[in-house]
Amino acid sequence: RSNLRENYTFDNFVEGKSNQLARAAATQVADNPGTAFNPLFLYGSTGLGKTHLMHAVGNEIRERNPDAKVVYMHSERFVQDMVKAIQTNSIEEWKRHYRSVDALLIDDIQFFAGKERSQEEFFHTFNALLEGNHQVILTSDRYPKEIEGVEERLKSRFGWGLTIIIEPPELETRVAILMKKAQESNFDLPHEVAFFIAKRLRSNVRDLEGALNRVIANANFTGKAVTIDFAKEALRDMLALQEKLVTIDNIQKTVAEYYKIKLVDMSSKSRSRSVARPRQIAMALAKELTNHSLPEIGAAFGGRDHTTVLHACRKVNDLREENHDIKEDFSNLVRTLSS
Ligand code: ADP
Ligand code: MG
Repeated sequence: RSNLRENYTFDNFVEGKSNQLARAAATQVADNPGTAFNPLFLYGSTGLGKTHLMHAVGNEIRERNPDAKVVYMHSERFVQDMVKAIQTNSIEEWKRHYRSVDALLIDDIQFFAGKERSQEEFFHTFNALLEGNHQVILTSDRYPKEIEGVEERLKSRFGWGLTIIIEPPELETRVAILMKKAQESNFDLPHEVAFFIAKRLRSNVRDLEGALNRVIANANFTGKAVTIDFAKEALRDMLALQEKLVTIDNIQKTVAEYYKIKLVDMSSKSRSRSVARPRQIAMALAKELTNHSLPEIGAAFGGRDHTTVLHACRKVNDLREENHDIKEDFSNLVRTLSS
């Protein structure tokens, strides 16, 4: 049995800046399993499409070659299976089975933490598969080196192929995902309502799906027209939770801590780079993560003008393109603030 979910395909995976690289790599792996990138390691926080992409590769491989043996497993299940094989004296058979597959997809590898015997077995299976040019795809909620409780030699092998992050989708992608999912459910979702939901639910796709399902259910149940107010009401508790989470205050504190500068420097007049850059990043985060207007954000940062905020947002956007550290800092901060 392959355990592949047929509805997780490339076709219904909406592409955006945040997942573009991961999607491209996954496509290449599906085109040339075992040789393009091996292993392919996808990481990123929960609900961003790692499992979906992994299945998409598996489905595509099977579509081209129906005889291909593709096995998907959640890592916990993989461990359980192995323990059972040991208990029933069938570990040799177990090994043979896993070493014979064309593609092995192990999801949420962080659950291997602390399971030494499983890591040992997996290490050998993994090596055997790589040597035979069988494809391995792994996912995790964090960068391989940051998974605690997993042997170093295993972590270093995870990085032999290609390691790619999936980031939280930006606004346009969130809107596109909502529109696509609504369309798949034959639900007529007004664009401004999709925009309203996407603007407020920023951290992951699973929440977007949950929100959409709620709106659809309420619409079917009440028969009311789907307006922004209707969505606001249907999603009241979900939205309240988000608003509470991300405030300008919270952003300023988090950014100051992250860059080890003083909180007062968020509003000070200082123009020194070590303070001005974090301040600009905090302004950009406030624009992206809250619903405050540019003048409101400026006011919260020591009474600055709205054009200063606008300039900061543009500057940070450019820097995120050019400067790897800033790109990394920004996504770390978004993650911290929206989790
Ligand atoms: P993860 O494994 O990263 O936690 P999943 O792959 O389970 O996330 O994705 C959560 C849900 O969001 C799934 O139903 C998946 O189909 C959907 N999803 C995530 N990203 C996308 C995307 N880019 N386009 C369409 N659906 C997506
Ligand atoms: Mg997953």
